[in-house]
Amino acid sequence: MSESRTRTVEAVIPAITQLEGGGFEVRRPFPTAALPQVDPFLLLDHFGPIDLGPGEAQGAPDHPHRGFETVSYILEGSMEHEDSAGHAGRMNAGDVQWMTAGSGVIHSEMPVEELRRNGGRLHGFQVWVNLPAKDKMIEPRYQEIPSTEIPEVRREDGVTVRVIAGRVGAVKGAVQTRTPVTYLHVSLPPMTTFDAAIAESQNATAYAISGDGEGELTVYAHDGDVVELRNDNTTETRELLVLAGEPLRESVARYGPFVMTTKAQIAEAVDDFQAGRFGAIARERPRP
Ligand code: MN
Repeated sequence: MSESRTRTVEAVIPAITQLEGGGFEVRRPFPTAALPQVDPFLLLDHFGPIDLGPGEAQGAPDHPHRGFETVSYILEGSMEHEDSAGHAGRMNAGDVQWMTAGSGVIHSEMPVEELRRNGGRLHGFQVWVNLPAKDKMIEPRYQEIPSTEIPEVRREDGVTVRVIAGRVGAVKGAVQTRTPVTYLHVSLPPMTTFDAAIAESQNATAYAISGDGEGELTVYAHDGDVVELRNDNTTETRELLVLAGEPLRESVARYGPFVMTTKAQIAEAVDDFQAGRFGAIARERPRP
């Protein structure tokens, strides 16, 4: 066995604040002018934690996607979704939805009706994972993982790691990915550390959800196979998302909700969408 080496930090990127969907605020470490992507990841949005009053909760009404995957992870609150393939469901705190948009879907992602009406707390993430060129037009697919089915590593010192994708030791993630991807939710009590094993070839990042460096994305250099996460704070817990993956190294043509390989494929996606070839969400009555 060769000795493991800890990666050095290449950059620390503060999230920018951006309006999304129907007009809700997200913190977004990328894409930005400074960091267009972290191949194969195209986007990381952090919404909340926010306490919303009655009628204040906003979502993302009907919109299309093609050419990549959207991954939703809810920490607080509940969201509902429905799509043009007749698929619908509800996500509660701790649940993950890994949607492979592939050739295309139209979907809506909204806080549940009760939360929109009465207000409440909302906190979560959306990550976009690019698909390799050869897989961009595959059939849409959902992997919906309830919180209870997400494998969790619990150490005696209180460190917990929820393994959404990838692997921690012998614990395998809940989701099947098209290319090697790691998605971990790590919770570090005061004065603890966690070493995530990430192959040296993979791009690796860690986003601080709470605690020291909240809202900052750390990008690691390709000089080791371990990402060391630390909480040097003596009183506060620090929570992080680890996002790592094998880069696709393909050209990226993106336009709003479409991410393809060439500009011609983007034009085709816009054309297909405008011609109604993505279908529509069937509803018995229009959303009020
Ligand atoms: Mn969407």
